[in-house]
Amino acid sequence: MIIAKTIEETRAHIARARAAGKRIGFVPTMGYLHRGHTSLVEVSKRHTDFQVMSIFVNKIQFNDPKDYVSYPREFERDFAMAREAGVDLVFLPDNEMMYVNHLTHVDVDLVTTQLCGAHREGHFRGVFTVVTKLFNIVQPDVSVFGQKDIQQAVSIEKMVFDLNQPVKIIIAPTVREDDGLAMSSRNKHLDATQRKNALVISQSLGEARELIARGERGAAAILGAMRRIVESGNPQKIDYISMVRYIDLQPADTLAEKSVIALAAFFGTTRLIDNMVIEPAAGGFTCIY
Ligand code: AMP
Repeated sequence: MIIAKTIEETRAHIARARAAGKRIGFVPTMGYLHRGHTSLVEVSKRHTDFQVMSIFVNKIQFNDPKDYVSYPREFERDFAMAREAGVDLVFLPDNEMMYVNHLTHVDVDLVTTQLCGAHREGHFRGVFTVVTKLFNIVQPDVSVFGQKDIQQAVSIEKMVFDLNQPVKIIIAPTVREDDGLAMSSRNKHLDATQRKNALVISQSLGEARELIARGERGAAAILGAMRRIVESGNPQKIDYISMVRYIDLQPADTLAEKSVIALAAFFGTTRLIDNMVIEPAAGGFTCIY
């Protein structure tokens, strides 16, 4: 596995792979890898022949400077996991290299107004800017993103379409711990009590699925039931529990088309997110989370 720290090196290695007829798969990450990240590489391997992963804690997407400083970093462990997952090249840039004299940013309207976009000022602009830069550096054929960050994934699909970026986006399923908690690098910050309490997040999605299976279609009823479950876990704060249409991530009062139920809550100082995609299916809806 190649570890490339400069843009030039990265481009040269990828150019060689492409010249050898290989298709390039790309998984952007902020490191502190877990099975959620490596599952994206697994998906990418099904579509491409040369796997690139970036590991970069992207300062400009952190709306909270304390979150940036405390974000876990453990590169040697990441390299071992990436190698094991079949990554061919890790791109490990630093902040100065990525943002020297930086003046240009990428924004996506509408799909960023709700959910995390309403609570994390500047976050998505930082994400789209770095992802566009990374796409320009790596020039992947395929890039894989996790459903875990559904607003990010849907918005990046829109960005790629709107800006004619020549890359195919794949959204891969959320990987969970055995007890249901969605894997996240930030889970490391949870103490034992918070870790246990945080289970209410995935449990609330399970309750929503049950209600939908029993025929409930009203957002108020579904989200109200979820809120009661989340509150029972004693969160520091609930940012949102929302139902939105998948197409534009705008609020839906009634479940009538492909939709997303998503939530964000703090356990201690750790902000956790999770979501469920709801697809119309024969005679009802299928919930994917
Ligand atoms: P991050 O390192 O948190 O910025 O995430 C990098 C990529 O991994 C993003 O596409 C995330 O959506 C994805 N990801 C993070 N956690 C999970 C998970 N539990 N399951 C699937 N994908 C994930």
